[in-house]
Amino acid sequence: MIYRLFALVFFVLFNFAFSEVYTPSTTKEKEEFSKLQKEEIIIGLINEPFYNLSYPNTPSLNDTAKKFLKDYMQLNVVFKTISYKNLESEVEAGSIDGVALIPKNQFFDDFLDFSDSIFSEKLFVISQNTPINSLEDLNDKIIYTPYMESYVNILNAVLDNNDLHSYFIPVENLYNYKSKLLLTTNPVLYKPNYGIKIGNSSGVTIALSHKYVKLLPFVNSALKSGYRDIFLKELHNLESSISYNNFYTSLTEDEKRYLENLSPIKVAYENRTDSLVSYKSQLSGKYQGIAPNIFKVLKNNLNIDFIDITDDSYKTTDNLKNHEFDTMILSKTQERSKDFIFSKKIYDIKMYVINLDNSPSSSGTIGVLRNNVEEHLARRYDVDSNITIFDDLEAMVKALNSGEIGNLLVTNKEDFDSNKYNIIPFETIPVNLMFNKENVILRDIINKAFHHSIDLKNLANLSELERDLENKNIYLKNKEVRDILVLFSILFIFIIFAISIYLYKERLNKKNLLKDSLTNLPNRFIFDKFCHEENSLIGSTFVIDLNNFKNINDSLGHEFGDVILKEFATFLKNSFIDSYIFRISGDEFYGFSFENQEQIIEKLKKYKEFCPTLLKYNITFNLGISHKSSSMTLATSFRYSDLAMLETKKEKSKFFKIADDKFIKKMDRESSLLSLLKEDIKGVYALFQPKYCIKTNKIIGAESLARYSSLELGPIGPFEFIPIAEKYNFIHKVDYKIAKESIVFVKELLESGISLNNFRISFNISMKTFKRNDLITIISGLLSYFKVPGKYIEIEITESIFVLDMKDLISKLKALKALGIQISLDDFTAGHSTAGLLPLLPIDIVKFDKSLLDSLEINQEKGMIVYKNLTSLIKDLNFKIVSEGVETKEQLEFLEFLNVDYVQGYYFSKPISKEEFTMEVRNL
Ligand code: C2E
Ligand code: CA
Ligand code: CA
Repeated sequence: MIYRLFALVFFVLFNFAFSEVYTPSTTKEKEEFSKLQKEEIIIGLINEPFYNLSYPNTPSLNDTAKKFLKDYMQLNVVFKTISYKNLESEVEAGSIDGVALIPKNQFFDDFLDFSDSIFSEKLFVISQNTPINSLEDLNDKIIYTPYMESYVNILNAVLDNNDLHSYFIPVENLYNYKSKLLLTTNPVLYKPNYGIKIGNSSGVTIALSHKYVKLLPFVNSALKSGYRDIFLKELHNLESSISYNNFYTSLTEDEKRYLENLSPIKVAYENRTDSLVSYKSQLSGKYQGIAPNIFKVLKNNLNIDFIDITDDSYKTTDNLKNHEFDTMILSKTQERSKDFIFSKKIYDIKMYVINLDNSPSSSGTIGVLRNNVEEHLARRYDVDSNITIFDDLEAMVKALNSGEIGNLLVTNKEDFDSNKYNIIPFETIPVNLMFNKENVILRDIINKAFHHSIDLKNLANLSELERDLENKNIYLKNKEVRDILVLFSILFIFIIFAISIYLYKERLNKKNLLKDSLTNLPNRFIFDKFCHEENSLIGSTFVIDLNNFKNINDSLGHEFGDVILKEFATFLKNSFIDSYIFRISGDEFYGFSFENQEQIIEKLKKYKEFCPTLLKYNITFNLGISHKSSSMTLATSFRYSDLAMLETKKEKSKFFKIADDKFIKKMDRESSLLSLLKEDIKGVYALFQPKYCIKTNKIIGAESLARYSSLELGPIGPFEFIPIAEKYNFIHKVDYKIAKESIVFVKELLESGISLNNFRISFNISMKTFKRNDLITIISGLLSYFKVPGKYIEIEITESIFVLDMKDLISKLKALKALGIQISLDDFTAGHSTAGLLPLLPIDIVKFDKSLLDSLEINQEKGMIVYKNLTSLIKDLNFKIVSEGVETKEQLEFLEFLNVDYVQGYYFSKPISKEEFTMEVRNL
């Protein structure tokens, strides 16, 4: 009630103070201004969907700009609608005197002056189908952009700074390309499923030609006098109207009805200090954080009301079960999934282990803060007697420093100086809104609200800011210090901005822009139009990519490279008459032809084999080809052709590949697997395949092998998902997960009192993981956290790591060995001739690949000689040998004869669960 009163008073005062028309303050200014008011000024209104959009009670931004200039400033303006595309020519021709709403940018500096910024814009790259979660995902992609160079430049600068590159196609109406990647300041217009924020534009302003530069100070002061707030308010209304609209239209009839009768949602928050999810503000006593902010947005933007029923008593899941409230915020666990359902995840809580000593012998307890997720997690991994619970952070850190406890499990790694402490990423815990099972409809509505109206990333940032602010306010009571901080942040932002502009310009100078004038073939731009308009065509699409073309340019010069490209283009044009050929990038050609796949392959094959230029300079190319049926879009068909082309590059056996049904299925499966795996690496777990000592016939350990199974796709083998994880750069997550499971398993075995003499669990570390800087910290951190001596662990690496820098490789191997870990070289065959490197490497064990045993079946005599000689070579070097893939008694007898140390294979056991393995070890 009291708030309403305030609002009313404020409203009255505001309107009173804010007069209907603008008047300058001094008489001299008034005189000058009234002169300017008489001149007829032509102002461009940009035909941007977002600027033109209006809703009942919400005028469009262009309308607001009109009102501002005409009614509030009382200028004699005529408005002219223009597009971004024509903007430059209109400005240059002088047919407009200014632009109502335009992002400030230096490209128009020659013609225009800009007012102060009215509102800022964020730039996003969004998509409906292509998953984009990070900048890397934009590499080599085509991005459709507005005809606004300053936007493209910002994105380009960001990409360049990250050594990435993409292609830009400016288009007049992004809406026509909404299934593609779009660069936009207004993602809500296109209802994307994916998107990342690129940065901020330098702000939308009112621009005037130099002729009217005198008017600018008046525009600025008119904005300052209150109109800027009107713009901002309208912008806000507009954004919430759009998202409300998107949200509402996504609802089913049932959901709409449900929503109409919904009484306020009762929510209980947890007070988690050091977590962004929800915590009680020390200043206001109210709950802050992501969860409360979500509900605030739901209320403000979507009219979904809520009541915070959190009081001082601790609310548990039982209270939710008893319907004391509707939802609480917790992470999704198997246990909870029995009784509850969950919304999409709202946030990831990252958990870290902090310790002082890397050595695996470091023992002691784990410290956690009371009642936090950390406490629950610690209990899952450790026995209660090892866990010490602290009420405050300071005491906990003190205990760590004094050696009273060995490790801390925390979420707030910022509190620890990385020079002093080891900070080891431990686990990420997603949190969700949790509902009672029968509340499916509410859960679905909330999920839709998340999708259309709540930018969770943004909320997380906002909440972080809020918390920073709170912290700052608590600690920095001194206003001067605060001012200096603000000054520093501004300076910092300015420097970063200056640097990125500088870097961008540097790069621009260097870059040789692609010229399609070279080959006279239509370029990517036309290609895209073609894809858009000719979807009914039936035939074949193909993608050709020249190999090592960069080398040719580098070694023989660009002029020479150009000649070859021209020749290649001419060949394509002449051999594929009646077809469509495009030059997509430097050395990439796309084509559509009515001929069948065999005919196309035949032509290219002949050219490849007989073209003198290609032969002389040893130039090769790869071809991917796909049948374009009526049910497939051109874009899709080209995508499969492109993927097929990439596949031949990898396989290297043939120069072409047909994207047949099998291939398409494989690619589709790969992309669905990828999205599953990326979302949920938790579904990866380990099985253990025992290894035996050939002499004693006893288990001497096991290899942990990754498995993955998902509800949607069922069990998936490592031969399928490991390459995907490698290709998309998250293999380290798999490796670390399996490493952790292996170490935890050793810990459990040790605790169960089984004596483990000369016993090791091994896990695989891929080359890409081995390359990472955090490898040693993570492995040593896991060992010290779980108090597992390194001697129980073995790491399997493959010969592929020899491509790494030798110095780095050896220093990492040595660091692992210093932890007591043994190293084995996996998949060893006679094939790779790295045998010469073996004496140099600090390894302990060599694992002979299954293929070596298999070759015995093919040519017994020769196979035996190879196996025998390799065995004696490895033995002479003092390495132990594990023979992999033992399947038969005969193989075993042969290996016994050769005096091989250890064996692993189906003859003894397939990979088994940890319970089964424990039984096996116990039975010894
Ligand atoms: P690998 O490291 O060579 O592992 C041995 C593979 O041979 C395992 O296949 C195992 O089940 C299989 N195997 C063992 N004995 C026999 C036998 O007698 N006959 C036959 N036919 N096969 C046998 P799996 O589990 O399918 O794993 C395949 C590969 O996936 C592994 O080959 C390894 O390269 C990779 N991999 C598995 N887990 C991980 C992991 O956590 N990280 C990484 N980077 N790679 C992993
Ligand atoms: Ca292995
Ligand atoms: Ca192997």
